[in-house]
Amino acid sequence: MNQSQILRLQERVGTTPDGFWGPASIEACQRHLRDMMPSPHPFPVEGTQDFLDFFGPHGVEGGYTPPGRTFNLPFRLYLYGDTNQPVTRLSCHENCADSLLAVFERLAAVFPNEQDRKAAGILDYFGLYNPRLKRNSTTSWSMHSWMNAIDFNANKNGNKTAWPVTATMPIEVMECFAQEGWLAAGAFWGRDAMHFQATAPR
Ligand SMILES: [Zn+2]
Repeated sequence: MNQSQILRLQERVGTTPDGFWGPASIEACQRHLRDMMPSPHPFPVEGTQDFLDFFGPHGVEGGYTPPGRTFNLPFRLYLYGDTNQPVTRLSCHENCADSLLAVFERLAAVFPNEQDRKAAGILDYFGLYNPRLKRNSTTSWSMHSWMNAIDFNANKNGNKTAWPVTATMPIEVMECFAQEGWLAAGAFWGRDAMHFQATAPR
């Protein structure tokens, strides 16, 4: 984000708009999103027994697949931003599929036309289910292995790209997810802003 976008973001999350994204801004942003989440929170915390009780085992390539449910999207996405690869339906873990559809309905309301959605980066779909280990881990499974995480606009919101100073994911997108209880990686771990997952904050 550029300086004026950072200032607007700071105003929106209720911290001093000084253009410096430091600990006070990070805390204010996380609080802003937490305050929007449903109570009680609909999802468990990652890495807990509650999580395994709720979502079951992770998927394995060529083996177990978590129970998914497919739904029609309120607007068309494009796989990897490629207009030759439109996506009109998604499959998500059955315990968060209604929730993800509700997120998309919120996104459709906040970004009512195609141009706004394109600018927000939410048309550029980078995947949901992918049974694999986390990057740089030999033991810890990616949330994508449970079919409860989704990525958008990876080109501008990379795994190691700092949000919001370099990455571009808008706070308004994170708010739509937060209102249904989903965590925005950019806000909660300061990078990987493409990524949203159906877990409660720690
Ligand atoms: Zn992801």
